Amino acid sequence: MTVLAIDIGGTKMAAAVVDDDGNVLRRDRTPTVPADPWPTFVAMLDELVADEQVDGVGIGCGGPMTWPSGEVSPLNIPGWRDFPLRARLAERYPGVPVRLHNDAVAVAIAEHWRGAAQGVDNMIGMVVSTGVGGGIVSGGRILDGATGNAGHIGHVVADPAGPMCACGARGCLEAIARGPATVAWAREQGSEAMDGPALARLAADGDEVAMAAFARSGEAVGRVIAWCAALLDLEMVVVGGGLAQAGPPLWEPMLAAVREQAVLPFLTELRVVAPGLGGDAGLVGAAALVLAGERYWSAD
Ligand SMILES: [Zn+2]
Repeated sequence: MTVLAIDIGGTKMAAAVVDDDGNVLRRDRTPTVPADPWPTFVAMLDELVADEQVDGVGIGCGGPMTWPSGEVSPLNIPGWRDFPLRARLAERYPGVPVRLHNDAVAVAIAEHWRGAAQGVDNMIGMVVSTGVGGGIVSGGRILDGATGNAGHIGHVVADPAGPMCACGARGCLEAIARGPATVAWAREQGSEAMDGPALARLAADGDEVAMAAFARSGEAVGRVIAWCAALLDLEMVVVGGGLAQAGPPLWEPMLAAVREQAVLPFLTELRVVAPGLGGDAGLVGAAALVLAGERYWSAD
């Protein structure tokens, strides 16, 4: 059995043919054309799949979206507003399951299915990057919520007096800890770092402002992890994404905040770890929507 897996982001669109075990057999990618991505997208799929029969299609896509109907309006793809992505792909691949979920949910599924959280029944996989997103596995199954939006950990309030969030609320984790917010805070304190990687290099060299910026973001992430762990009785949280690669300047304050706040007896074994998968996680998770649908797909 092979599945066509698709990972759609604001800068690139990736696709792969994936086997039963989650191995990527072939892959391709193309830059996203924000105004009208469809033509380059289908050209990539046609070349990748050619005449082969695929047994299903799994898609991870940036939100917001309707779920499970799969009308997508990715923030960074203005050409797609209420675009019926799931229906369009179902027309192109008739007779096989076509399933779509949020891209951060797909990454969490991948870490549970084939990554750091294999065999862990209660976990959150989160991505700290340009945004902050995640997905929840509870009792060994993905938690969808009423509208498929469970896992929006970036919009848990980490500091009621914090900065305004793009969602309209104040002090969301995403407004504090996303990469651009971390850099913006450092620049307000006088740093000249232009982006997350530059800020991470400064922090690694012991620059005080850069270290303070990562500490502020790391503490916020850790605090929210502790709250979610108490709510959901978690065993593990996997923290990935570009900002999470900053290493000790982010991880040490984050883990300290978790230790300080996750003190109930059932949380003492909580593990907060780096991802087990690399850049293919989004594709592997998309494939799992079909290949392990009994755990990761609850809709029609
Ligand atoms: Zn928010």
